[in-house]
Amino acid sequence: MNAEVSPVHTPMMQQYTRIKGDYPNMLVFYRMGDFYELFYDDARRAASLLDITLTARGKSGGNAIPMAGVPYHAAEGYLAKLVQKGESVAICEQVGDPATSKGPVERKVMRVVTPGTLTDEALLPRNRAVVVASLYSTNARTGIAWLDLAGGRFRLTEVDGREAIAAELERLRPAELIYNEEQPIGDFSIAVRPTARPPWHFDLDSATRLLCSQFQTKDLAGFGCDEFSTGVAAAGALMQYVIDTQKTALPHLTSITVERTDDAVIMDGPTRRNLELESSISGRDEHTLAGVMDRCQSPMGGRLLRRWIQRPLRDAQLLRARYQAIDTIIERNLTDNLQQQINGIGDVERILARIALKSARPRDLRQLSEALSRLPAIHETLAPLDSPLLSSLSENIHSHPKQRELLQKSLVDNPPMLIRDGGVIATGYDGELDELRGIANNADQFLLDLETREKERTGISTLKLGYNRVHGYYIEISKGQADKAPVDYIRRQTLKGAERYITPELKSFEDKVLSARERALSREKFLYEQLLEILLAELASLQQTASGLAILDVITCFAERAAILNLVKPTLVREPCFEIRAGRHLIVEQVIDTPFIANDLDFNEKQRLLVITGPNMGGKSTYMRQAALICILAHVGSFVPADSLRIGPIDRIFTRIGASDDLAGGRSTFMVEMTETATILNNATAQSLVLMDEIGRGTSTFDGLSLAWAAAHFMGDRVRAFTLFATHYFELTALATEISDCKNVHLDATEHKGQLVFLHAVKPGPANRSYGLQVAALAGVPPKVIRRAKNYMASLEAQQSADHPQGQLELNVVDEEAHNPLLDALDAIDPDSLSPRDALRKLYELKKIIS
Ligand code: ADP
Repeated sequence: MNAEVSPVHTPMMQQYTRIKGDYPNMLVFYRMGDFYELFYDDARRAASLLDITLTARGKSGGNAIPMAGVPYHAAEGYLAKLVQKGESVAICEQVGDPATSKGPVERKVMRVVTPGTLTDEALLPRNRAVVVASLYSTNARTGIAWLDLAGGRFRLTEVDGREAIAAELERLRPAELIYNEEQPIGDFSIAVRPTARPPWHFDLDSATRLLCSQFQTKDLAGFGCDEFSTGVAAAGALMQYVIDTQKTALPHLTSITVERTDDAVIMDGPTRRNLELESSISGRDEHTLAGVMDRCQSPMGGRLLRRWIQRPLRDAQLLRARYQAIDTIIERNLTDNLQQQINGIGDVERILARIALKSARPRDLRQLSEALSRLPAIHETLAPLDSPLLSSLSENIHSHPKQRELLQKSLVDNPPMLIRDGGVIATGYDGELDELRGIANNADQFLLDLETREKERTGISTLKLGYNRVHGYYIEISKGQADKAPVDYIRRQTLKGAERYITPELKSFEDKVLSARERALSREKFLYEQLLEILLAELASLQQTASGLAILDVITCFAERAAILNLVKPTLVREPCFEIRAGRHLIVEQVIDTPFIANDLDFNEKQRLLVITGPNMGGKSTYMRQAALICILAHVGSFVPADSLRIGPIDRIFTRIGASDDLAGGRSTFMVEMTETATILNNATAQSLVLMDEIGRGTSTFDGLSLAWAAAHFMGDRVRAFTLFATHYFELTALATEISDCKNVHLDATEHKGQLVFLHAVKPGPANRSYGLQVAALAGVPPKVIRRAKNYMASLEAQQSADHPQGQLELNVVDEEAHNPLLDALDAIDPDSLSPRDALRKLYELKKIIS
């Protein structure tokens, strides 16, 4: 605890210190009247993070107490800022009644907001799931469990090795990472907020027990978790964490799903980043695959689309069903219709989670009501369609007539933000509430009516009704007429010129009015709770509807994109092939002002390695990336930007593109490059798609060329993955004569009036010369420099042809038998164990072998 707190505290600070003791690692928001206050270190931290004033509050134990506070009604905004900065906050409310408490009001932490467990609408990003993940390792295997609390999605998987863990973290981008405090997790290239938990939370038996009690099952067999014990241990610890922070039941978490690595086209971390699937290197999200493809009408559709893109599937039957559904929507011309029906459905998935957590706001329920009212039209649209996927969606999207009617009847059209002040439940829904509100609202009318009635009954002309704070309601009669007061009038007060009375009717009216407002409010709160309970009873089927709607949203979006972006249906085949006719790069195509030049790609049993040459800026990277993006889109179930696509089974996509220092990980460009290359050489199979761009650039020419040559040779000869190998080493074009599955292609460019013109067309054969100097001229390098460079190049070329009469570097000395040591050396580069020193040693060995 805070060293600055001396043992003598005011009672309130004693209470604070006790509460803070339970939450040493997070900020405590301590409710005092209309503010949440923070003290000591918390106050200093919050003041700097939130840019709020640091003040001091009185003294406790002789010292001033540093304090900072935020108004409770603006707390959400401050919380959002704090969690964005990776902070967790324990929110401590006043739970006792200040009027009756002796000493400080009783206070209790009512919820803990952590970056990975957000569920409040105000704190959640619309298109991205907020995920908390958990890691647990035994020997070689690592279990990863993750939870999207606001979406009610709980998953686990198991992987081998650090690269695979990094790849999963890159995909999931957890806002928080739970780990066993005895198993430090080290650094990953993505920023995660680590939270250490005690080792016993990861104990398999207690994890299993906890999960079974959460899911209300006898065992976990039904979830297919049997062979995933490290995953289950991670999931159990995660569950415990969520229980500890949420402090409420989590009825929307009813199962856990195992994600098997083999079901998906595997991509490692660098590949996800290089291909700019969801976030772009330039930071412009519209220039990502998700950005171009997402025209979903609901946020849950947008998030599902991103999950699909991050985990393309290999199940051809499932993918064909998606293609067929897209086709059906296009053929029947239903895209607009469906998009209109889905538009405005809102975030049902998250609303349901908040209903389960009992934190749903009135507007959540109103939105749910709106969503349910759209279901009949959607059913009507889907019912006649001849598509297995759409039919099954139509079955899974239930119509919920009872809940729809209930919500329509129970809620006003524009409810306020909070239930706190009432005005949420509609008139006509509950007789008692209507009566209470009637009393509160119609008091004036009742009094006027009563006055008229009593005047008539008594014949007293001066009789009037009134109210004062002390005595409440009264009937007043002037002194002169007081003797005419009927017997049922009970005297309440005598004034100088008048007598005041009460009657049993007026008394009961008074009781009713005075408490009516209060009672109406508590009745409303009760009815609201009841509404949540009724909806909760149907949670599972409502969740099914939500997930059906999300899928329908994405499929409809694919249909819309297919029409607008001119996409075609892929053909999935069993034999090894990857043939694209007139393929395009979706994102580049959107960005450039000139027409995009479509290109073919041919991979098959006999052609597995394409060496791509051509000038810088010629379009090599674009051509390679478009192949990967087309492959991903096909495996997401979308149509693709091409005239046609035939594709056989693909197990993984690897990329080695671009050179960037991994400064966080402390590795140089060359080191990153070699590690990525080694990963590919060690893990790619004949079913993989591999993109290698300019390997060897991070080192000297000779080393670079040797490594690039050896790596390409290894890919073409041993691994036989479908490999696109772009290089500026012209020498590598000789590989085509050595390896039977290898072909050269080049990006065409031409010179026009001394200017270089890029044609961006992929042509067979090697590029015939380097256009480096022309590119430099285009980039604005002064003509004088270009001229000198030209002269220098001419002299180099003359010298080289004197040294090597064949006009080639002497790489061919390393023939099939002799270059085995080289391949073995490369083979031995294991990404998990390679330190910078090892890398240098390896490089040195390679140099020795080649020279
Ligand atoms: P390289 O990798 O050969 O240096 P890039 O693939 O980065 O070249 O392409 C450079 C630029 O050329 C792209 O940013 C794009 O503007 C344009 N480009 C590339 N391919 C095409 C194409 N097929 N059609 C039209 N423009 C293209």
